[in-house]
Amino acid sequence: MEFHAQLILLYLSPVFFAFIAVEWYVIAKQRCYSQSASYSWTDTVSNGILAGFHEIGDAAAAIFVVVIYDTLFEFRLFDIPSTVLTFSLLFVLQDFLYYWFHRASHNIRWMWCSHVVHHSSETLNFSTAMRQSLTYPISGMWVFWLPLVIIGFQPKMVVAIVLVNLAVQFFIHTQVVRKLGWLEVFFNTPSHHRVHHAKNPEYLEHNFGGTLIIWDKIFGTFVPERDDVECVYGIPRQIDTHNPLTLTFHEWRDMFRDTFGPKKSLRNRIRHVFGHPEWQPASDDDTRVEAADGRDS
Ligand SMILES: [Zn+2]
Ligand SMILES: [Zn+2]
Repeated sequence: MEFHAQLILLYLSPVFFAFIAVEWYVIAKQRCYSQSASYSWTDTVSNGILAGFHEIGDAAAAIFVVVIYDTLFEFRLFDIPSTVLTFSLLFVLQDFLYYWFHRASHNIRWMWCSHVVHHSSETLNFSTAMRQSLTYPISGMWVFWLPLVIIGFQPKMVVAIVLVNLAVQFFIHTQVVRKLGWLEVFFNTPSHHRVHHAKNPEYLEHNFGGTLIIWDKIFGTFVPERDDVECVYGIPRQIDTHNPLTLTFHEWRDMFRDTFGPKKSLRNRIRHVFGHPEWQPASDDDTRVEAADGRDS
């Protein structure tokens, strides 16, 4: 049987389901875990359907992304052989780019429209890892890996490493594992990623790393999990539904409603799309505010 790199997540799905089953059993048996760790059928089934949506989105995007990657690969800077060393280098470089993709996803609303799906549950367990968006290709996730292709890594290897990184991240979505000793220094762990999913003011918008946590430590976005601040999961504008379609499109709907609403200046319309997801103009009628500003000056 031929190995298809783009199907890595599907090949690994039995492993993911086994971990979900074990965690579900452990949490149901031992009643020491918080409500936010426990499995409900509605949340879990919704996460599973969203995983299916994500696969469909990736399969559809592959049609044009492969063409773009293959075309750019013709203009590559270096001929890089496939060795353990170059594969390791690719892993680190892709994880570095993943940090910036992820940080941008929390700071640019166009990208948040997709990434919000992963964060909108008030529960955090292994099934949350499967909660992904159909619309990542529209938000431009694939753009972040272009430098790897231009450097000279084979497009197939790039796609494979992106998916391996996502697969590894499955295992950090749990409340059953507390701390992992020295691994916490270099790697993204369940503890670090709980902080990332929390909406407490102390934790919000930190720990963007994929597999490695060193990028957050270098670029000043690292916050450790504290014993005295229990993580509260979800998003600032919490959405209360398990409908996969609503979960996929609610932030797109809100963004377009804000962008094309009445009485907005062009600058603020653009800011609704590319500004921070929670940014709102100071006034309902910002054309009037701008006119007043113009008269003052
Ligand atoms: Zn995130
Ligand atoms: Zn996550």
